[in-house]
Amino acid sequence: MCDPGCERPPTYRCRFFRVHIYIPAVKRILPHTLSPLTHSESNVYIERLQSAMSTPEIPAKAPMVLVIGSGLTGPVIAILLQKKGYSPVVFEKYTENADIGTTIALMSNGTKVLGVADREMMEEVYKRSRLVEAIYELNGKNEVLGGNEDLRNYHAKFGGHPFGWQRTDFRLTLIRQLAKHGIEFHEGWTLEKLVEGENSVTAYFNGGRTAVGDFVIGCDGANSVVRRTILEDFHKAENPHAVYSGTTHWAGFSPVPEGWNDPPCFRHIYATGSHVVCYPFTNTEISWGVTLRIPEPSKKDWRTYAPEETARLIKDLLPIAEKAGFQPNILKMLEETTRLIKFGSYDLVNELTPAQWHSNRLVLMGDSAHPSGVSLGQGANMSLGDCYALYEQLPDLTMGDRDFIARLKQLDTTLPAIFQKYAEKRQPITVALVKGARAQSFVRTDEDWEARDHRLKTSWETGVAKQGLEDICNEPFPGAVPPVTV
Ligand SMILES: Cc1cc2nc3c(=O)[nH]c(=O)nc-3n(C[C@H](O)[C@H](O)[C@H](O)COP(=O)(O)OP(=O)(O)OC[C@H]3O[C@@H](n4cnc5c(N)ncnc54)[C@H](O)[C@@H]3O)c2cc1C
Repeated sequence: MCDPGCERPPTYRCRFFRVHIYIPAVKRILPHTLSPLTHSESNVYIERLQSAMSTPEIPAKAPMVLVIGSGLTGPVIAILLQKKGYSPVVFEKYTENADIGTTIALMSNGTKVLGVADREMMEEVYKRSRLVEAIYELNGKNEVLGGNEDLRNYHAKFGGHPFGWQRTDFRLTLIRQLAKHGIEFHEGWTLEKLVEGENSVTAYFNGGRTAVGDFVIGCDGANSVVRRTILEDFHKAENPHAVYSGTTHWAGFSPVPEGWNDPPCFRHIYATGSHVVCYPFTNTEISWGVTLRIPEPSKKDWRTYAPEETARLIKDLLPIAEKAGFQPNILKMLEETTRLIKFGSYDLVNELTPAQWHSNRLVLMGDSAHPSGVSLGQGANMSLGDCYALYEQLPDLTMGDRDFIARLKQLDTTLPAIFQKYAEKRQPITVALVKGARAQSFVRTDEDWEARDHRLKTSWETGVAKQGLEDICNEPFPGAVPPVTV
C-alpha cells in the first residue's frame, strides 16, 4: 500500500481504508473493496513517476477521450476506456432521460460486452430484466416452424444471457454506472463542431462551450455530427444519410398472455405481409413489435403515444392484424396494449468504408457508423461489439509497470492505424447485419406466406437458422471468455 513517499503508481483505491493500492494480488483477493483511481488521482501519480524517471518530455496526463452521446454505446465505451487507463468524459445533448421506446433485446454478443465492462453491472441487468430461454418461429396459424430451446445455456456457452429490457431503464442503468466509476458526464451539451489539431481535438458545444481531448469517439447516433465531420472535413466526401427502409413498426407493452412466461422466449409469428415479435421483459409484461411494409414514410404519426390515445390507435391496428391472419391470442395481446409507439426503420444503404469510420483523432461506433433497421434486433448488439473491438485495439495505459509511459508516448502516432484496424474488423460484420436486417424486413412482410414458411421451416430443419444465431453470439469474441488484451 502506498505511503506518502511511495513512487510506485497505484491503480486502485481501497473503499474501506482510503489508501491507494499497487499490489495486483490485492485486487485478485479482494476485488469488491477496490475501485479504479479517478483521472486527477491518476495524473498525480503519472507526474510523480515522470519526475522519478527524469523524463520531463512525457505528456503529463492520461489521454482524455471525449465521448459524444450517452445512448447505449457511449457509457459502455467510457467504462471500457477507463479500465485501460484512459480518461473518458461523456457529453449528451439531452438534459433528462425521456421515457422513450419500448424494449431492447440483447443476445449474447451484446450481453457479454456488458460483462467485460463491469461484471456487477451485468449481474444487476440480469436481476432487473427477464432472461429469455428459447426462441420459436410460428406461422400465422400458430404452427411452430422451428426453434431453439438452448438459449438458457447461452451464458455458459457464449458469455452472455439473451434478455429483453425496458429501454429507458436500460439507459438509466448505464448512465448510473458513469457516476459509480467516477466518469465525468455532461448533460445538455450538444456537439456542434469539431476541429482536429495536430495533437488534440477541440469540440464546440451549444452555449459557446468547448472541450479539448486527445481523441473523440462518436456515439451520437444515426444523425451523427462526428460522422459528418469525418466525412466532410477529413475525407472531403458526402455524408450519407440513413434512408427509410420501407417498413413501419408498431411496438408496445401488454400483459403476458397465459403460459407465455414458461419458459420466457422470443416468439416470431409470421402472417401474410406482416410479422409480430414478442418476448416477456418482466414477470407480468410482454414487449411486442408488428412490422408492416408501407412504401412512403409517414413521420407525422411516429411517436410514443399517451395511454389515453393508445386504445384509439390500436383500433386502427387490429383490423390490419386480423386481415394478415394473426390468431385470436395475438389479437388479444394487441388489444390489451398499455404502451404504444409507432416508428419507421432507417438504414445506411451505401455503407461507409473502414477508412470512413475515422480520421486521425475521430472515430465512430454504434448507430453513428452503421444505422440499421430493426428487423434483426441487432443494432444495440452491434454497437456493444464495436465497443469491445475498439477497447481491444487500444493499448493498455493502466499504470503499474514502466512500459505504460512508452505506450503513452506512442499513442499519438499510432491512433489512425489503431482506428483503421478496429474499423476493418467491425465494418464487414456490421455491413452484413445491416443488410441482413433489410432482407429480414422483406421476409417479415412477404405476401407469399406459403413459400416463406417453407423456407423458414427448412432453415431450422437443416440447422442453418441455429448456426446463424450461434455465429452472431460468437461475436465480438468467440465463446464465453474474452482474449487477454495488452
Ligand atoms: C424502436 C427500436 C427498437 C430497437 N430494438 C432493438 C433491439 O431489440 N435490439 C437491438 O440490438 N437493437 C435495437 N434497436 C437499435 C438500438 O436502439 C440502436 O442500435 C442503439 O440504440 C444504438 O446505440 P447508440 O448509442 O449508437 O445510439 P443512440 O442510442 O441513438 O444514442 C445516441 C446518443 O447521442 C446523443 N446525441 C446525438 N447527437 C448529439 C450531439 N450532437 N451532441 C451530444 N449528444 C448527441 C443522443 O441524444 C443519444 O443519447 C432498436 C431501435 C429502435 C428505434
